[in-house]
Amino acid sequence: MARYVDSVCRLCRREDEKLFLKADRCYTEKCAIERRKYAPGIHGQRRRSKVSDYGVQLREKQKARRLYGIMERQFRQYFKRADKQKGVTGENLLVMLERRLDNVVYRMGFAGSRREARHLVNHGHFTVDGRKVNIASFLVKPGQTVVLREKSRKIARVADAIETVQRRGVPAWIEVDHQNFKGVVQSLPTGPELESTINAQLIVELYSK
Ligand code: SF4
Repeated sequence: MARYVDSVCRLCRREDEKLFLKADRCYTEKCAIERRKYAPGIHGQRRRSKVSDYGVQLREKQKARRLYGIMERQFRQYFKRADKQKGVTGENLLVMLERRLDNVVYRMGFAGSRREARHLVNHGHFTVDGRKVNIASFLVKPGQTVVLREKSRKIARVADAIETVQRRGVPAWIEVDHQNFKGVVQSLPTGPELESTINAQLIVELYSK
């Protein structure tokens, strides 16, 4: 399976925006965006020329992909599924991305970043409704309970993540009980609860060409 192996801070610098792909570092002055406010690569410091509509749409899609840590092929599949569903395609797409198990674990505060959450899920540290699930792309449904397995409760980075989750907060569509290492997806996120940094309409326009 293809996977991005270069420095993730380059992705933030490319999008000119903090994507919070690392845990604690993103909240310190060591953050690469704070220190080097220009795109990566040898042409990164060149003055930027005017970006076409296509360029704007492409950057928005890349930003969404990178934020959720998804490769192009899978992202396009999400779009196709979102397009077939009833309702607004862009919103359907963002809801589906939010429902991914790695994202839910991150939103619950059991991991400091989505990357870290994916790693924990892949190593089988979580159950959904009592069954071990080690697939990061598993889509959690409303009413389902995600629990950190008993033997995994002493992992230091989970404790760190729980301790620091307040700086980003837990969304209202999730109820979490950090003392018992579990959380419930109460409902699907809607409108203002969806990722506000992404303009999903631009992604729809890009894929509809
Ligand atoms: Fe992005 Fe975090 Fe790196 Fe800053 S530290 S550039 S927010 S991944």
